[in-house]
Amino acid sequence: AEQQEIFLKRQPRSAELVEEASRYLAGGATSSWQIAKPQAVWMSHGAGSKVYDVDGNEYVDMHGGYGASIAGHAHPAIVAAVSDRVRRGTHFAQPTEDAIWVGRELSRRFGLPLWRFGNSGTESTMDAIHLMRAVTGRDMYLKLEGGYHGHHDSVQVSVMPAAEEIGSRERPNRVTANGGIPRAITDLAVIVPFNDLSAVERALVEHRCRIAGMILEPVMMNAGIIPPDPGYLDGLRTLLHRHGALLTFDEVKTGFTTGPGGATARYGVVPDIVCLAKALGGGISVAAIGGTAEVMGAIVDGRYEQVGTFNGNPLAMAAARATLAEVLTDETYGRLDRLASSLQQQMEQTVADAGVRWNVVSVGAKGCVIFKPERVRDFRDFLGVDDRYSHAHWLVQHNGGAFLPPWGKVEQWLLSAQHDQADIDLFARNFRTFVAAVSR
Ligand code: PLP
Repeated sequence: AEQQEIFLKRQPRSAELVEEASRYLAGGATSSWQIAKPQAVWMSHGAGSKVYDVDGNEYVDMHGGYGASIAGHAHPAIVAAVSDRVRRGTHFAQPTEDAIWVGRELSRRFGLPLWRFGNSGTESTMDAIHLMRAVTGRDMYLKLEGGYHGHHDSVQVSVMPAAEEIGSRERPNRVTANGGIPRAITDLAVIVPFNDLSAVERALVEHRCRIAGMILEPVMMNAGIIPPDPGYLDGLRTLLHRHGALLTFDEVKTGFTTGPGGATARYGVVPDIVCLAKALGGGISVAAIGGTAEVMGAIVDGRYEQVGTFNGNPLAMAAARATLAEVLTDETYGRLDRLASSLQQQMEQTVADAGVRWNVVSVGAKGCVIFKPERVRDFRDFLGVDDRYSHAHWLVQHNGGAFLPPWGKVEQWLLSAQHDQADIDLFARNFRTFVAAVSR
């Protein structure tokens, strides 16, 4: 309560804007996930590793725009590329040469030969599911319990089901995740837990010759951060292929945050399809979908028309090229690794000193605290995490000058190419304040 009061005192202009916005913007925000408690924070600008709200407060940005801002803010290379493109026109609905450069670079990083572009993660996972169906001629698909892949119908099943609605582990319920999602879609989605190959095998046998493929985040990030068990990703590919089905990695979030070639390169398992978005555009909206020659053959020969007015938009392509060529370099990843391990070490030390048994998990530039003593292997394990801690942690970080995603229980922090040791140390110091307060 004390931290909440400090928070609200620091945000008078945001409070006015929430009020004014609610007259013109549904719910007073531009996306339902911007409506945070105790109040949405309205932003003014960002520079380097910092963001500034409309009340003039400065924060080290650990939110990272839900995983998109790995370049940091207003990176000079991206500003230059985008400004140049704006001066030369931003939309022709015809390809520009930057698209070839970006496609070639993505092939090199992810080991998949052919690419197409879109505008959001939702579009890329929608294309992936359509493609798996177009290639196999089958309608059903496997999806993880607790997996988030955007807001189109097929993936809005069992995204964040409550404990009382999930059913048994052997046969999880298929729960629609939002208003407007037809119940009928659940006839096509088969839900399996993460890190469980035998559940996938059972589903493939039960629905023999009806499963087009499986979509999953290779490192599950809708439930804190859950890395794959050794052999899990490789095992999935083998099982699915044995049953004539395809494997899609949704790397919208993991794509450039877990390494230069995402989890695909990090774990050395190349799927049939990779979905990208978020960080690819260095702050401009863009998405990409990559696939094997066999899969993308469905686009080449017209069995699947992958379309969109703004696909391969010149502004997005210029931003993606600058991001990949000049920001997300090997040198940047080396520095991100050093900062991430310094942060993890400091936070683990804090947890150990306080005698609390929480897990500090980080993979690449992403990290989170799971407020639970046991290791979390799937969404069901994650259900037992106490949100009161994550909300209190968010408030303490906020009041101490670090901006985290408001949905702390599921979301992670992100370091950017422009963060430095002082940023990390401030975050670690706030964490010590928080742990001292809750373990008093
Ligand atoms: N896939 C994953 C793994 C995501 O985390 C998200 C967004 O959070 C999406 C897809 C959807 O992306 P977008 O919000 O750009 O539609």
